[in-house]
Amino acid sequence: MSYVDEVIERVVRENPNEPEFHQAVKEVLESLRVVVDANEEKFRKDALLERLVNPERQFKFRVPWVDDKGQVQVNTGYRVQFNSAIGPYKGGLRLHPSVNLGIIKFLGFEQIFKNSLTGLPIGGGKGGSDFDPKGKSDREVMAFCQSFMTELCKYIGADTDVPAGDIGTGAREIGYMFGQYKRIRGVFEGVLTGKGLTYGGSLARTEATGYGLLYITEEMLKSKGMSMEGKTVVVSGAGNVATYAIQKAQQLGAKVVTCSDSTGWVYDPDGIDVAALKEIKEVKRARLTEYKNYRPNSEYHEGKGVWTVKADIALPCATQNELGIEDAKALVANGVIAVAEGANMPTTMEATEYLQKNGVFFLPGKAANAGGVATSALEMSQNSERLSWTFEEVDSKLKGIMVNIFHNLDDAAKKYGFEGNYVVGANIAGFEKVVDAMNAQGIV
Ligand code: NDP
Repeated sequence: MSYVDEVIERVVRENPNEPEFHQAVKEVLESLRVVVDANEEKFRKDALLERLVNPERQFKFRVPWVDDKGQVQVNTGYRVQFNSAIGPYKGGLRLHPSVNLGIIKFLGFEQIFKNSLTGLPIGGGKGGSDFDPKGKSDREVMAFCQSFMTELCKYIGADTDVPAGDIGTGAREIGYMFGQYKRIRGVFEGVLTGKGLTYGGSLARTEATGYGLLYITEEMLKSKGMSMEGKTVVVSGAGNVATYAIQKAQQLGAKVVTCSDSTGWVYDPDGIDVAALKEIKEVKRARLTEYKNYRPNSEYHEGKGVWTVKADIALPCATQNELGIEDAKALVANGVIAVAEGANMPTTMEATEYLQKNGVFFLPGKAANAGGVATSALEMSQNSERLSWTFEEVDSKLKGIMVNIFHNLDDAAKKYGFEGNYVVGANIAGFEKVVDAMNAQGIV
């Protein structure tokens, strides 16, 4: 049995009930086969892949808090510190009822390669809780965040592990967590990114993942002699990534006709109104059913359906495994040119293969949504030098990073004979740097 197959089998055996983690490991190791096979003897002797797929450490903890009725609630908190070969652990905190250890491990594992691709000195980690901020009062969210941070603060720090936002963790949650960290540890330091602008946050961090997604998509299209100008785009999600992806796509001259949330989706033939979307989601924290009040010409549909709309570009920006094989078939039948992942692993492996086989340019999330973490790293730099850069400065650095990522993965794919396969390109480019650092640091 090949070394790659052996390690995949072992991961499945030793981590039961963690299907998302298995999926992420398989996807990465499958595409690294060409590199691993060429170095099989050395990698096997050093147990390199075993060390890569086992987190350096992981924490699971109780998070008790009191709701508005005086009832004590108990959630579970997680932080997985996956790999620190190239820098302090870095990765978001997800607050969603679906969160479990397997999901955090899949996200943390992907984060290693994503962070490496940015070219910045950040290792991979991820955390979160099964707490659901939806429908909770501000006081309840604060009570949860304070309790969560009371435990988490023992394991993180500006030079060790720097969490950020993710699904369910926005500016409000980061603020409450930062306040509690400072209160307990007594230090004002860049321990979290995605902070508010008045206390160490970076301009353009809010926009970074969505904007970065469009910068890399535009660069890929450019390499094919095309551009976003005049393209019709379908987007899923209505959160942070989706909102700013829609905004930047529009700035680049495209028309975005859909967005969605966990209950339904909107089709707006005149192009999504970003101001309305922000008011519904960021201010009112309401459902997309409200969108029709702002745009009477639009349609609201319950359930899933974004991928059935005819478009040139598809940008999944909601959650994992939201674009399956039937969705991929519908997109191809409608002549889609490119799919770029704003979310983490939104496309199933089967759907990814189908898209690639049918000539669709496919940019995987670990490259396409790396703008968020890259700008978080820029926030860390600003915190360290106690300065803040202008929006234009951060945005232009972000653009440079995304353009670089595209060329790195394009070159890696070509170097190993997989021209145009950006999944292989991204995994190899991310992997090579991490492996080099791991080898240099000995068996740790
Ligand atoms: P948000 O919480 O701001 O938005 C998530 C959106 O996806 C919401 O519209 C939400 O619907 C929808 N959604 C969440 N879960 C589901 C589900 N199970 N089924 C259908 N829809 C769902 O999160 P972000 O925009 O920050 O994150 C979106 C994705 O991007 C995630 O995969 C995240 O890991 C990834 N990502 C985020 C980065 C960032 O900087 N924020 C960086 C890199 C990746 P509703 O409004 O109903 O809650």
